[in-house]
Amino acid sequence: MGHFICQCCEKELHHDDPRYIIEIKSFADFDGHFEGNTGNIDCEIVNLLKQIEDIDIQALENDVYKNISFMLCKECRDRFVRNPFQAYNNYQYTEEAKGTIH
Ligand SMILES: [Zn+2]
Repeated sequence: MGHFICQCCEKELHHDDPRYIIEIKSFADFDGHFEGNTGNIDCEIVNLLKQIEDIDIQALENDVYKNISFMLCKECRDRFVRNPFQAYNNYQYTEEAKGTIH
């Protein structure tokens, strides 16, 4: 059986070592409000479609939604969940904040 490597500290993980999968789901926050500058929704849609035609679909998907995963040892996982971005202000939004962040 192959060994795993912690993707953070690169420690070798044997099959009986605890290991954790970190899945990061990132998606564009959208509050349902459409910011139009002509006030004409038909016109806005036509403009949007014109823009979309010029965009690489993969790039567009990555802009809207991205899901990545990592395998970590227990120490790295514990450190990650305490403060994922090593940020000074470790405030976390709750589920209810989705669609309300501007
Ligand atoms: Zn590690």
